[in-house]
Parts: sequence; C-alpha cells; structure tokens
Amino acid sequence: MLLRIDENVGYTNTMRFSTKALRVSQNPRFNTSAVVNPIVQSTTFLFDNLDEIPPHDYTRVSNPNRTNLEAVLASLENAEHCVVYSSGMAAVTAAFALLEQGDHLLMAQDIYGGTHRLVNTVLPKQGISCTEFDANDPESIRRAIQPTSKMLIFETPTNPKLRVNDIEAISRIAHEYGLTVVFDNTFASPYLVTALDLGADIIIHSTTKYISGHSDVIGGAALTNNPDTHLQLFEYIKTTGACPSPFDCWLSLRGLKTLAVRMRQHCENAQAVAEWLEKQPNVECVYYPGLPGHPDHEVAKRQMPKGFSGMVSFEVKGTWEDTRRVCENTKIFQMAESLGGVESLIGAPRVMSHGAMTEEERIERGIQPTLIRLSVGIEDAKDLIEDLAQALALVKPLAASRV
Ligand code: PLP
Repeated sequence: MLLRIDENVGYTNTMRFSTKALRVSQNPRFNTSAVVNPIVQSTTFLFDNLDEIPPHDYTRVSNPNRTNLEAVLASLENAEHCVVYSSGMAAVTAAFALLEQGDHLLMAQDIYGGTHRLVNTVLPKQGISCTEFDANDPESIRRAIQPTSKMLIFETPTNPKLRVNDIEAISRIAHEYGLTVVFDNTFASPYLVTALDLGADIIIHSTTKYISGHSDVIGGAALTNNPDTHLQLFEYIKTTGACPSPFDCWLSLRGLKTLAVRMRQHCENAQAVAEWLEKQPNVECVYYPGLPGHPDHEVAKRQMPKGFSGMVSFEVKGTWEDTRRVCENTKIFQMAESLGGVESLIGAPRVMSHGAMTEEERIERGIQPTLIRLSVGIEDAKDLIEDLAQALALVKPLAASRV
C-alpha cells in the first residue's frame, strides 16, 4: 500500500503497524488553508533544534489558539499585552499576585461577589489587607489610602445597581498615590469602554460574559501596556497553570467576531426595556445608565458614547413574594446566574449574585429584596417587553410592605 510520505518529517512506508498509527499524516507543520483557525489541541510542539525554543513549546505556557485570542483582545482594548486565563477569577487572582505580603489594596464597595470573597478570604492569608472605597466619590480614595497601599480595583457599570464611575477621575487620584489601577471591564466590554485609554493600568475581563457572548465558555483576561506587568501576569499563568483550553480560546475567538453587532443589539434592547419598565405602575424604580434620570447618566454619556450595555435592574413595587413571582414566571427571560450571553436572563440579587451577603449588608448597599436584575439579550425587544408585561401583571399593585 502506498502511504503519503512527508519528506520533511521522514515518514516511510516501511514503518510497522504501531508506528504508522502514530506518524502517518500526522505532520505537525501541516497547513490546511482553512479560513477559520483550527483548534490546536496539541499539548506539545516540535523543536527544530536544541538551540532555540519554538514559539509554542507546551500548552500550559502558550498555544496558538491562546495567542490568537490574546492578539484580538489586545487590539480591541488598545492594549500592548494580553494574557488569557481559565476564568475571570483566575485573571483577578493573577492581578492580585502582583501584590506582596504587607501590601494594602483599595477595593470599590460595589464589586463582583467573587472578587469580594477572594479579597476577604484568600488575601488576608497572604498578608495583604484591604480597605473599601466609594467609587461614586473618587475623593474617598484619599481617605482610604494607607502608607502601604499599592493597588486599587474597581468595575463599572456596577453590579447590580449599574452605577457608572468616572474611570479617568479614579485613575488620576489613584496615580497621585502611585497605585496600580485594576479595572474590571466585564460589564461594558471593549466595544463600549477602553479603560487603558482612560488611565487604568490593568484591564480584567471575565470573558465568560460579553466577550464570548454565548454562555458556553468560562474564561478570563488581563491586559496592560506595561511590559513588566505583562511579564508578571504571564509568569503567573505559566507557574500556576490557570490556563484556558485551546477549545475555550477558540470559542471565545468565535464569539469576539460578533462582539460589535451583539453589543449594539444588547444596548438597543436594554434601552427599550428600561424605558418601558419606567412607565409601569408596579415598578418602583429602574436602574439603567441610558435613562436620563440615572444618577450617572452624564458620566455614562461621556464614558460610554456607543451605548450603555445590556444590564438593567429594577425594583418591583411590592414584596419579596412579588419579586419571586416575576422571576419565576418569565417565559423568554430565563432565570439563571451570569450575564452577557445572547439569551436574556433574569435573576434576584437577594438570593443569586448577592446571596452570600447578609440582608443588612445588602440593604446597606441599596439592594432591596424587590430588586430584579436583567441581562437583556439580543432577541426581539417586543417579545422581551411582552414577556416582562405578563410576569409583572402578577405583582399586586398596592402591596404595602417591601419585604
Ligand atoms: N468580574 C465580574 C464583573 C463578574 O461579573 C464575574 C462573574 O460573574 C467575574 C469577574 C468572574 O468571572 P468568572 O465567572 O469567569 O470567573
């Protein structure tokens, strides 16, 4: 039988059964001319000689699909460097790994619950302390500063009240004290905000959300213009192994191709849903930065000129039981954690995103039991509104108490 022999690699038709199974047509340098980059599942890569390390040698350290994803993300965030991770939390952890024992961190009060947990459970064991500041008031940074302060972390629009904090003002004050500014851009995506341009030093993403966009992959990224910071972020993944799989990178890359069109539709639908919700008699208030009545509407218009993202929160005029009725009775909005996928999701922060806090902690942050959070997807906005209308019809209009 005639075998296809690749002379570069030296396959021969004299090979025996077990060798043929491993080597025939298994040319590591094959080029498929595929329009879409293939998934390079290989864990290991050829060396040409022992004098030079190839561009990829071992997939924990680097892989073509990972490099593709990093290049695209860096270009979209106007960043020089990007490192992708196995999750958003792995990316946050990598940023915190820049801190040393004895260092102090400033963290915005309104921060993703997982970041809050990391800061309060893991960092103290590493001798790193933290003080919270109010990102709605950048001057509060000055009151939280300590001689050992090294880093500040915040995110905006915030979860679940969707406040829009002034990235430029926060970065400017933080830099007066020599802090490294870490900004989590998960809720806006680089289509709406490029925060390195506004003064941040490190951008974090849970690529699980808008970047990938289809609720089918967990991933994270850290981006920076600083080569030393990049080296440390890279050394972290290489050393700890918090790397994404080639398939996950490939899925995120596929999602990224439609980020712009998805974001435009998320923004348009969320604006329509928010404006409609505002007019409903059994809705107490609506939180969406695209509404003129939102406390940060002016900052949002300046900072997010292309749109206000797809997250909308609102309080029903009623009780916790009414919140439950609405969340449990939508037909198109699916009741689930997470956000940023093409499909619309509904959830109650009281038992979902902020369920780990006590009721007092939630009330302190303005998270009422009647608060509902929507991740508005890219379905037809009319269907989304009709769905909310039938669920809101179950709220008793004159309920006396909120709890
Ligand atoms: N940052 C923000 C703002 C998030 O909302 C999340 C997850 O919801 C994360 C980080 C963590 O991302 P992951 O779930 O990909 O680890």
